[in-house]
Amino acid sequence: MIAMENVYKTYPNGVTAINGIDVTIDQGEFVYIVGPSGAGKSTFIKLMFREEVPTKGNIVINNRNLAKMKWKEVPLLRRDIGVVYQDFKLLPKLTVYENVAFALEVIEETPRNIRRRVMQVLDQVGLKNKARFIPDELSGGEQQRVAIARAIVNHPKLLIADEPTGNLDPETSWEIMRILEEINASGTTIIMATHSKEIVNTIKKRVIAIEGGLIVRDEHRGEYGYEI
Ligand code: ADP
Ligand code: ADP
Repeated sequence: MIAMENVYKTYPNGVTAINGIDVTIDQGEFVYIVGPSGAGKSTFIKLMFREEVPTKGNIVINNRNLAKMKWKEVPLLRRDIGVVYQDFKLLPKLTVYENVAFALEVIEETPRNIRRRVMQVLDQVGLKNKARFIPDELSGGEQQRVAIARAIVNHPKLLIADEPTGNLDPETSWEIMRILEEINASGTTIIMATHSKEIVNTIKKRVIAIEGGLIVRDEHRGEYGYEI
């Protein structure tokens, strides 16, 4: 479902963040992206939902060629991709319910079906009883669960998570991982950049290590492989 072929990304300031990457990721995989700071992990991830455009090479996601994609086609691509960030990025003035409903593509849906779907995903992340809260009234782990609910409300085939546990304590991080594993078990591909040695070495998945804009290691049930 994801294929990168000879991909390069050089930023306008001349920094080459991705330096010739070839990789394929199948539907339903769970992949950790690891590597030192500045290695190119965030850029690698941003290329997948066209937050950045490759300087060279081909990227195919869900049968769409991102390198040839026109700007007006980008929203269609992103409908199939959920994204979760380290700092949650919730809308602070909206309630939990509204934050999730807002992301729902409301194409010819009845208000009743919209409500049903929003409550269904809030239930999935264990926050049905906090639908009327605003983000400030929630713990960090709860805010991340809202962000996950928002990311999956449109049933994306791919969920991208950029250090989703980076701001959370260990116990809360394991809760988030349990939710991500459940989402993966239902068939959604998950790509997760992380600096957590504990998580990668405990919940074994495919590990892709990036250094200097290149894939230096790609292992099934791999190890984190760095000291911090
Ligand atoms: P990581 O996520 O592994 O820390 P990044 O993809 O953020 O790596 O960064 C890779 C390299 O690209 C770094 O040298 C970084 O400074 C540079 N970089 C990242 N984003 C930009 C940008 N928008 N403009 C210019 N350089 C950038
Ligand atoms: P943490 O232990 O992660 O710091 P908090 O102590 O902030 O979490 O929150 C514990 C519980 O109290 C959470 O379920 C959260 O939803 C609730 N809570 C925190 N602040 C408020 C608030 N201002 N109004 C209502 N509920 C709150």
